[in-house]
This record gives sequence, structure tokens and C-alpha cells, in this order.
Amino acid sequence: MARLFLLLAILLAIFWWLGSRVRARRTDSPPADAGVPRQGADDRAQEPMVPCAHCGVHLPRSEAIAYQGLHYCRAAHLPEANGRSGDNGGDRGGPA
Ligand SMILES: [Zn+2]
Repeated sequence: MARLFLLLAILLAIFWWLGSRVRARRTDSPPADAGVPRQGADDRAQEPMVPCAHCGVHLPRSEAIAYQGLHYCRAAHLPEANGRSGDNGGDRGGPA
């Protein structure tokens, strides 16, 4: 019977020790947790911005359409698209 109590005491001690470790880790980690979403924002901020050669709006280079050494914000602003459909029907997102 005494052995059972000893075992129970050891188990309780282990659980208490684990609990205090988890609590210590939680108090240490908030800066790391807060940094995760901010890292993604930093990656986006570091991306070079390029102006659209047609309307002049700035956008990340990965989202711009590169054509003949210039960047465009959408397919409708490409010189080809403007030549074919004129200036007014721009926002339909026609053939790329
Ligand atoms: Zn544009």
C-alpha cells in the first residue's frame, strides 16, 4: 500500500513539474508567436514595387505583368489590349 502512495506522489510531482515547464514556456514565447504573422508582412514589404506603365499605379512586382521591359497592373493595360479594345473596356480582365 505504501508503494502505491509513493507511486502516486511521484506521478503528481511529474505532472506538477511538466505543468510548471509549460507555463514557463508560455511566458517566454509571446514575442515569437507575435513575430510569425509579422514576418509574412515583412516579406511583402520587402518586395520591390513597380509602377504600371499605363495608369501609374504602384503594385508588387510579383503581381505586375511584365511586358517589353515595362510593368502593367492588369492585362487590360497592356499596349496590345489597348490597341484592340480601346481605352474604355479595360476592367473586364480579357485574354492574358
Ligand atoms: Zn495600370
